[in-house]
Amino acid sequence: MLRPSAPLANYVFHFVSITRGTVTGFLLAWFVGMTPLPASGQTADLAQDRRFDALTWVQNSAEYRMLTEQTFRLALHPLVTALDDVTISADEAQLAEGKFADKPPAIILDCDETVLDNSAYNARNILKKENYSTETWNAWCLEVQAEAIPGSLEFVTRAKALGADIFFITNRRDVVKKATVENLKKLGFPATEENVLTKNKELGRGDDKISRRETVAKTHRIVMLIGDSMSDLCSGMDVTETSQRNQVGNQKFQQLGSRWIMLPNPVYGGWQQALPENEHALKPKSNTK
Ligand SMILES: [Mg+2]
Repeated sequence: MLRPSAPLANYVFHFVSITRGTVTGFLLAWFVGMTPLPASGQTADLAQDRRFDALTWVQNSAEYRMLTEQTFRLALHPLVTALDDVTISADEAQLAEGKFADKPPAIILDCDETVLDNSAYNARNILKKENYSTETWNAWCLEVQAEAIPGSLEFVTRAKALGADIFFITNRRDVVKKATVENLKKLGFPATEENVLTKNKELGRGDDKISRRETVAKTHRIVMLIGDSMSDLCSGMDVTETSQRNQVGNQKFQQLGSRWIMLPNPVYGGWQQALPENEHALKPKSNTK
């Protein structure tokens, strides 16, 4: 693949221009700029990793930062309404059951890629040509190095000041709960052993987060759910095909933007497991001309 190496070409151009003349410099810079990278070169390999573009967007683009900031800022408006209106619950099961008007209001947030930025872990995996594993993930969590998703801390701080109790429901496992609380606290989030609810399938705290939302609903009126995955917001997402996921989503979108707030995560998620194979995941319009 031809890949102009612009900085090196510019450097050579300036250097040779000064020492040997402009024409020679131009020719050499052009040659260096158009030299093919080695087929086995690391840069070429990394760019072929399907996670590369998604992760570099998250880690580098102003657009990602602006999008998460914007989402959290906009979420404050429906929050104010929901705090005042005791007929509102963001949780489907609680809303169906009723009897929540007298309970104190609470917001439930997911952790990873909602308030905690784990892009460094994913960057390591790409650089090492490794996939996610429970072992490396838990080791990353124990490092307590995750940063805050832009806008999340300001939102949580404001929400707490407005009177909402804060809960974090995460599919991190019990074994890294202490480190997760520590990481959240280090960033300034109001995290404790009590309001961080980790996963333990053997104890009935499964991937779908339903039982943990039930736990919060026993004591609180859930006014808002925030996450980067649909299972952070509602039940019924344990379907295995993209069309089914979208169908469930379409049926439930009435809460979106008011009681349910979705953050972007182009790097990983349940949507990936449901994807059709390779080119079947792409949807070109048919050419009718
Ligand atoms: Mg998440």
